[in-house]
Amino acid sequence: MVRRQKLISMTDDHFEFASQLPNFSKWVRNKIDEYIQNENKQPKAIEYMCSGCKTRRTYGSMYSRLKGNHFPITRACPTMDCFTEMYRHDFYRKIHGEDFDEGEEE
Ligand SMILES: [Zn+2]
Repeated sequence: MVRRQKLISMTDDHFEFASQLPNFSKWVRNKIDEYIQNENKQPKAIEYMCSGCKTRRTYGSMYSRLKGNHFPITRACPTMDCFTEMYRHDFYRKIHGEDFDEGEEE
């Protein structure tokens, strides 16, 4: 594969670190591959459930400068007159001690 060069800027600390790596270019390529894989692993949308009215909704990721694309742990419940928060499914279980996917509420 043809290799091309890209000039990058570093702080002194980063430069020190990079200088100590046996193969900096390879390390950067691996990091980029890792990054691409993780990007693709991210789901497009995640399900949330309200701890009050048990409404379920699926939401896409949100973007912020600090966190990039992410799925916040809670979101405001969209049901009118319900002021409880919806929890991301993986946190719902941790917080409420019950299984998110089991038992439709009547
Ligand atoms: Zn609700």
